[in-house]
Amino acid sequence: MFLIFGFRSKDKIVGSRIGRCEVCGATAAQTLVKRSTKFSLFFIPLFPVRPARHFVVCTNCGRSRGAMREELVAA
Ligand SMILES: [Zn+2]
Repeated sequence: MFLIFGFRSKDKIVGSRIGRCEVCGATAAQTLVKRSTKFSLFFIPLFPVRPARHFVVCTNCGRSRGAMREELVAA
């Protein structure tokens, strides 16, 4: 018998709003993404291994940065 296990990261879009990008300076839709990483066994996600992280992705330049606390409240 052998075990197949690993970690799976899953991104989920939780919101989007128009804002100014810090990277490219353009005013474009900024997408708020929630990334959760789960321990999986036989390709079945079982439980989260770390708290979910949020980050903001610019739809103009595609760059991402960490989301600030007030942005999570607004989304
Ligand atoms: Zn940008």
